[in-house]
Amino acid sequence: MPVRSMRVPRSPVLAALVLACLLAAGCKREAADPQAADAPAPRPAAMVDTDEHSYAEPARVAIDDLALDLDLDFDTKTVAGTATYTLQWKDGEAAQLVLDTRDLAIEGVEGDVEGAWQPLAFALADRDPNLGSKLTIEAPQRPAKVRVRYRTSPRASGLQWLEPAMTEGGQLPFMFSQSQQIHARSWVPLQDTPQVRYTYSARVRSRPDVMVLMSADNDPQAARDGDYAFSMPQRIPSYLMAIAAGDLVFKPISARSGVWAEPSMVDRAAAEFADTEKMIAATEALYGPYRWERYDLLVLPPSFPFGGMENPRLSFITPTVIVGDKSLVSLIAHELAHSWSGNLVTFSSAKHGWLNEGMTSYVENRIVEALYGEEFSGMEWVIARDALKRGIKGMPEATQSLAIRPGTQLDADDALSQVSYDKGAWFLQFLEQRFGREVFDPFLRGYFDHFAFQSIPTETFLAYAKQHLFDPHPGKVTDGEIQEWIYGPGIPASAPQVLSPRLGIVDSARLGWRGSKQLPPTSITGPWSTQEWLHFLEGMPETLPVADLQQLDAAYHFTGTANGEIAMRWYPLAIRSGYTPAYEAGTAFVEKIGRRKLIIPVYEALVKTEPGLALARAALENARPGYHPITTASVEKVIAEARPAPAPVPAPAPPAQDAPPPAEGSAAPAY
Ligand SMILES: [Zn+2]
Repeated sequence: MPVRSMRVPRSPVLAALVLACLLAAGCKREAADPQAADAPAPRPAAMVDTDEHSYAEPARVAIDDLALDLDLDFDTKTVAGTATYTLQWKDGEAAQLVLDTRDLAIEGVEGDVEGAWQPLAFALADRDPNLGSKLTIEAPQRPAKVRVRYRTSPRASGLQWLEPAMTEGGQLPFMFSQSQQIHARSWVPLQDTPQVRYTYSARVRSRPDVMVLMSADNDPQAARDGDYAFSMPQRIPSYLMAIAAGDLVFKPISARSGVWAEPSMVDRAAAEFADTEKMIAATEALYGPYRWERYDLLVLPPSFPFGGMENPRLSFITPTVIVGDKSLVSLIAHELAHSWSGNLVTFSSAKHGWLNEGMTSYVENRIVEALYGEEFSGMEWVIARDALKRGIKGMPEATQSLAIRPGTQLDADDALSQVSYDKGAWFLQFLEQRFGREVFDPFLRGYFDHFAFQSIPTETFLAYAKQHLFDPHPGKVTDGEIQEWIYGPGIPASAPQVLSPRLGIVDSARLGWRGSKQLPPTSITGPWSTQEWLHFLEGMPETLPVADLQQLDAAYHFTGTANGEIAMRWYPLAIRSGYTPAYEAGTAFVEKIGRRKLIIPVYEALVKTEPGLALARAALENARPGYHPITTASVEKVIAEARPAPAPVPAPAPPAQDAPPPAEGSAAPAY
């Protein structure tokens, strides 16, 4: 996910989990020692990893296939039906199937014993606030199939149900899932760990006027009749289970790609994302065939808490990237890139987040470069790295590394942060530059082929890289450099620097204005893309005199902008500076949009003063019915931790030169 794609929800859950794990006897972290790669190597295979976020015991029995038969009920906001598992028993002594659930009512369990369904005993443990309820099914005869009948809670953490008024069209209700990282268990009982991959099929019934889609073989021609069938023949981990239902129509982009959206949105979306087929082709040229058949995009309501979610065959996308000029379509490149990095080769647990997100952010940039050129991709590098440099300063040292050394305690609240995304991508660019694209590109393609449809930890990547990159090309990198990138804090000294001439012009324009109050000529700013405007705003000091903000606003109409990326930078600056004309538009913005990355900085600026805190509280109450629970929790946290000053802080006289942009909040990019 983030700006780009989905970022895993930062949950207090993870912190507690990892700590609990570290305290528990017998709870291992990494089984593999990175140094073990020095041994004369067998062909690298996926090493063993422990996932503390699941009760499942996949070494004993693993789900091979899942068949769902479900009814969606918009009135009760529930999903009910059966999940039938085809099982692969690996341990001849195993007598139980253990599944993850959260807030599910389990109505019955049966096993296929000698061709007949027979009831099986089961126990649903007390609810753990983080992991949910362990479901233990007694299966001493190790049946090939087990069937669970269940019902979700209206408050299922992985589902959001929207009233018609919260949609674009306003006529029909909408529902969608967000399963990453451990929310799939709130709508399907599962071995909810990326270490288990399975095929699935589903039959789903709903009210007949809504279209239902899944992370499966959606048929663009499907009749909207309330009875839908899906098949997913490629093996996926549970966090890629996805479902959505609403007033959704399809518009093709190419023979294998198109957009699903509400009718009023679909034309704009298809125009914005018109380059999707070119992106697929560019990625295939670099990293081999797209292996999932169709690639469609689903545009969600503005309440979607993330930028995107790489659900296979059907990326879920925020509408906030539809700005009319394709300037934010790197999000599509990101979600598409996950079809190789993440969905095809998957981290074996969230501790190895960079294998999904860093790899994807790197591939994303390569796609952007292939389509839009090096100047544009260079701007994206610089903007991401400026944010990383600001954010990493405020992070605990242990969370600044790409992977966690075995035995290190991690506040896993930060497990998947900007470090996973942007430092991970930076590491791969470092390797690319040391080895050259003529070596590194085929290496990465080989990596995706070798581990296709597998889930691996960092150490498996390192062992593979040693065998296929480091050893065959000696002298290009040192072991110390690799260790520093993977396990060290901060930004390594070996990090390659990217210069962006276009952003250099923006810096000059900003400096010139700050010195002279003369705005740059429109011949300069006229062609600016979103990225240049972002950089223009990001280089401003913490606060500006109100007169300066008035001048900028009169010239550039930032207040009321339809571009959420600009809004998330302008409103905090304006609010911190006491520029009251932006307050109303800023609060209207956060009430309309649910994407956390865009609105949290605005809330953080508001709560710095008593009057602003009151506005923030009011905005949350107005928005609450339409916010996703993940967004609500994030906003509540900002408000709860507020330490407001009594009144707006008057803007000080401007410093002689640009101060670095504010760092607050930027350590928490897991949107
Ligand atoms: Zn992502």
